[in-house]
Amino acid sequence: MAIIAFIGVGNMGGGMALNLVKAGHEVWAFDLSADALARVVAGGATAATSAADAAAGADVIITMLPAGSHVRAAYEGDLFAVAQPHAILIDCSTIDVATAKAMGEAAASKGLAMVDAPVSGGTAAADGGTLTFMIGGPDAAFGMAQPILEKMGKAVIHAGGPGMGQAAKICNNMILGATMIATAEAFVLAEKLGLEAQTFFDISSKASGQSWSMTSYCPVPGPVPTAPSNRDYAGGFAAALMLKDLKLACQAAQGAGASVPMGAEAEALYQLFVNNGGAATDFSGIIRLLRG
Ligand code: NAD
Repeated sequence: MAIIAFIGVGNMGGGMALNLVKAGHEVWAFDLSADALARVVAGGATAATSAADAAAGADVIITMLPAGSHVRAAYEGDLFAVAQPHAILIDCSTIDVATAKAMGEAAASKGLAMVDAPVSGGTAAADGGTLTFMIGGPDAAFGMAQPILEKMGKAVIHAGGPGMGQAAKICNNMILGATMIATAEAFVLAEKLGLEAQTFFDISSKASGQSWSMTSYCPVPGPVPTAPSNRDYAGGFAAALMLKDLKLACQAAQGAGASVPMGAEAEALYQLFVNNGGAATDFSGIIRLLRG
């Protein structure tokens, strides 16, 4: 069984690391937060004293960190230097495409195998081992990462070369942000026109207005009982994280010379929602902003 180093065992990484422990792996964990580390140690992981300490003897090195600056610092600071030549390096964080590409290329130049492997699915999917992984990296590195990622997810999809996992993630979430706003707007308009929310849902969910935003995370309570709207928009996918992904998408679009007017508008509206206290609210809560 491969020995695994897991750097960043917070809300997402904690559950993911525990699924690797459950699968029988020896997991060496490191996190700057003592509380986060304690949770995975209680579940059977071993606490390392630093990222380098965790990674030095590992066959697999996984990072699940907040942003590109943390990922760059971790790999350039320690992980590239201590990684064993046969190790596979897997960054599961959601970060900017440019940093992901740079890290993949830096690893290759050192003869190391690396993939970017951002995830779709929140903490419930991380805990339950049902994440979807989108992978960027060479074929051989994908082949090394796949069996490990399958222990934490329900789907592992190769998107292309270095950075293409991140590209898939932010393009997907740009659709999600824009469709949620469009869906919420339509429910507000329906309400004001005197059309019942449930009736509108029954029609639109079977017509061309249907989307994941409508049928999985419906922004009004009632039609989809599992949607965060039924719990006063608690839990789910925080608006702050949606805003982070939209910023990454707009930044990538600028670098690539792509025009994303809907993505930019979604970013501006989520920024307004977050500025008005919506950061921790599920992203479907943006309907409150639209109601005025
Ligand atoms: P989190 O803040 O709970 O976890 C990040 C952890 O990294 C923290 O425990 C922090 O202490 C640790 N950390 C930061 N710098 C470190 C360093 N240098 N060395 C070791 N540990 C360090 O965040 P999260 O919700 O687990 O998200 C992690 C990543 O997953 C982010 O990139 C996020 O965008 C992405 N993501 C999150 C969700 C979600 O629903 N939470 C869903 C999909 C993707």
